Amino acid sequence: MAQQVQLLTTVEEFIKKPHQHYINGQWMPSMSGATMDDVDPSNRQVLTTVARGQAEDVQAAVEAAGRAFRDKAWRLMSPGSKSILIWRLADSMAAHLEELAQLDSIDMGMPIRQAQYGTIPMAIDHMRYMAGWATKIEGETIPVSAGAFFNYTVRQPVGVVGAIIPWNFPLLMAVWKLGAALAAGCTVVLRPAEQSPLSVLRLAELITEVGFPPGVINVVTGYGPEAGAALAANPGVNKISFTGSTEVGKSIMRTAADRMTRVSLELGGKSPNIICADANLKRAISGSMLGIFMNQGEVCSAGSRILVERQIYDQALEQMADYAKNMRVGSPLDPKTQMGPVVSQEQFQRVLGYIESARQEGATLVAGGDKMVQAGSGFYIQPTVFANVTDAMTISREEIFGPVVAVMPFDTVEEAIERANATEYGLAAGVWTENVRTAHYLAQSLEAGTVWVNAYHVYDAAAPWGGFKQSGFGREMGHHALDLYTEMKDVWISLQ
Ligand code: ADP
Ligand code: MG
Repeated sequence: MAQQVQLLTTVEEFIKKPHQHYINGQWMPSMSGATMDDVDPSNRQVLTTVARGQAEDVQAAVEAAGRAFRDKAWRLMSPGSKSILIWRLADSMAAHLEELAQLDSIDMGMPIRQAQYGTIPMAIDHMRYMAGWATKIEGETIPVSAGAFFNYTVRQPVGVVGAIIPWNFPLLMAVWKLGAALAAGCTVVLRPAEQSPLSVLRLAELITEVGFPPGVINVVTGYGPEAGAALAANPGVNKISFTGSTEVGKSIMRTAADRMTRVSLELGGKSPNIICADANLKRAISGSMLGIFMNQGEVCSAGSRILVERQIYDQALEQMADYAKNMRVGSPLDPKTQMGPVVSQEQFQRVLGYIESARQEGATLVAGGDKMVQAGSGFYIQPTVFANVTDAMTISREEIFGPVVAVMPFDTVEEAIERANATEYGLAAGVWTENVRTAHYLAQSLEAGTVWVNAYHVYDAAAPWGGFKQSGFGREMGHHALDLYTEMKDVWISLQ
């Protein structure tokens, strides 16, 4: 049995608690009294139960957020004081880093080392970066010719933000939305995914200790089609910030249209990753394998279509197969684990279904291709590599959101561009080449919100993130994120 990280006592105690909604600074059960189970994907056991929110719970949270938005305690709090509060929350997250890492790891299967050294530190950095922006949201003075006027703009918070987030990076996704919304002066109702609410609920406890006024941040748990849909439809919400599937994103946009609720959407992907013949192959292979298998492939920007220039195709394929076969798949709490279980029974079946479709459509399996029974009763799937995949096959077109990659050869850069862009998605893309012209040419030509050259899966709080095409719109991270949470007002002062 592998050595596992010992759960902290605070984590064990936290899990056992009844998990309620956090509304107006208070913990409260669902009005209906209903709860839902939260499952540990590494053993399929029920980890704990969580309040199952419905429209009436969402309504209470939205009212609290609306009151907090209008209340002077938050509205008139100076930007400097807001900045300090957000920074303090980051400090508190840093002080509880291990706890938050363990919670994400057991709740959705993230390898503990990734949580400790990657995801949670990134969430803390993000909070700190956004704390700085609270004091830097500036307007402009406009030299108008319409008469004797002093004309200036101010950027004001959009109001109550409904944030709906997925289960793949539970804490980080929450922070991407909270950081910018709070810096802009909004108030928030946050609905974590039903599969992984725990780290966000712990964050809510830290929020209370840090001293945000009640109602500035509220958390309602529940199922997507219940609590999530109710939040998107609530008339008291001024803006919906959603990360999840393209399908649900579209339904949210339709709902939002009725009240002109602002929306920003970070949706699915089928990101191409192009390896040219002149690439540093060693780096390209390990980077591309990280590109698909990080976080069990449960990443919207996973490099799930690898296009390899034909001269090096066989060699690259062999190295990818070796890499995949040698990955350490196992308990998320084992520090040696590189890939944990997928999040749920539903996701497990979905991913296995895609593997089956690839076999039936004639792709060549070179690594993995099955569930892992030896790893116990969890939702473990082998890192899977399919070769000779055509653009028409299901695994080339649909987002799998699991550890399955499609590898295919190409002959010219123009062909690679055309095929890379032949998708309804446009979130991210990877390029591996030592040729500076090819690198820039591909970076310009690929239809994606982010292009990584000789790297994959690098993120920074300062670098804008979001999609082209059906991968959504709006940019989270960087100062662009503030545009999502502010309205511009133009003021005319007559000088006569
Ligand atoms: P995934 O397949 O990755 O779970 P989803 O788009 O289904 O992607 O889920 C992303 C988030 O959207 C989750 O928090 C989920 O609970 C929520 N969600 C699902 N259905 C709806 C809906 N109809 N309205 C609002 N949110 C929803
Ligand atoms: Mg869970």
